Amino acid sequence: MNKLQLRRYAKLLAKTGVNVRKGQWVVVQAELDQPEFVEMVVEELYRAGAGKVTVEWSHQALTPLHYKYAKQEVLEKFEKWEIEKLEHRLNELPAMLYLESADPDGLKGVDQDKFTAVRSARSKVIKPYRDSMENKYQWCIAAVPGKAWAKKVFPDKNLGNTGVDALWDAILQASRADGPDPVRAWLYHNDELAAKCDHLNRLKLVSLEYRSSNGTDLKVGLIENSTFCGGGEETIDGKYFNPNIPSEEIFISPKAGEAEGIVYSTKPLSYQGELIEDFSLRFENGRVVEVKAKKNQALLEKMISMDDGAKMLGECALIAYDSPINQLGILFYNTLFDENASCHLALGRGFNECVRGYESMSAEELHKKGINDSLIHVDFMIGAKDLDVVGVTKSGERVQIFKNGNWAL
Ligand code: ZN
Repeated sequence: MNKLQLRRYAKLLAKTGVNVRKGQWVVVQAELDQPEFVEMVVEELYRAGAGKVTVEWSHQALTPLHYKYAKQEVLEKFEKWEIEKLEHRLNELPAMLYLESADPDGLKGVDQDKFTAVRSARSKVIKPYRDSMENKYQWCIAAVPGKAWAKKVFPDKNLGNTGVDALWDAILQASRADGPDPVRAWLYHNDELAAKCDHLNRLKLVSLEYRSSNGTDLKVGLIENSTFCGGGEETIDGKYFNPNIPSEEIFISPKAGEAEGIVYSTKPLSYQGELIEDFSLRFENGRVVEVKAKKNQALLEKMISMDDGAKMLGECALIAYDSPINQLGILFYNTLFDENASCHLALGRGFNECVRGYESMSAEELHKKGINDSLIHVDFMIGAKDLDVVGVTKSGERVQIFKNGNWAL
């Protein structure tokens, strides 16, 4: 892979992604797949002003071993030092950079019940920390190729390193990091997304209606005084950062408890290492009342039974059918990419920052307004070539937002 281009990508993650503050502590979480690239990232973070950079390595192949040999209560238990680490994070608020490269099938064969139980028990301990840190620090999720992941995406190119190189190319292209100045490209991209958000926010919509020939016919209520967001975000104290690279979506947190109708998935959903395929969800009074899936229906049912919020919507995201990622025509088996290729919804937790004035509201107030709460937030794709989206205003005016899969604004 071209080292100069990787260096440009590393700089993009440091500057545009986490947008590190002078002297700030940055934690990088990475798998063992691309140590040389991680070196570049660490150097670019220091060059961008980081005071301290810590790398936390992980190795996905260990997870199935832990689940095979360790007892559930052992996996659920938090050691004292782990709690102290969470507290330390909460006090120091380091910027976080997550480099994803794991094998989409890497958790295959792991006991699903045990996995869900452990995850839910651990989430309960982590959640209060996560909630009190929310919107206070910069973070960025981006990707680097792993061998098994590359093999999954490009099964035919698995001779030597060609699969990994092909995945690098796809990641850089999808992330708008394949040109001479990715940081500049992102300035332009963020401006464009912000202009779309402004347009939508001026309409003051109360609901969105989705329709396509595959059977999707869904109406979703929106929260009063909520805003569409996209691209970069700001921390409560005003530091701009890009939580996802790539990011093509304009999204809003819908009103929990207001969804009516049926929606059909248009891409497989990768959940806990398994693919849920060809599924539909029927909503009544905002909650899923019926699911059907051609593959892994039981897993989908388990997912929505995680808690009450798992049956309700936490995100409506709009992405043009002609988006660069969809045009690549690659299924990445990774939400960061696949969600940016298609209009999607998410079941579970919503986004506080989509409500105007959220900074001065308590979690309870936000929940009351309609921001959904759950241990999960799982995106699923509903974009189709003929998807129409209509926004309805308070006075009942209907505004065409998407026509035939693309922006109509
Ligand atoms: Zn999304």
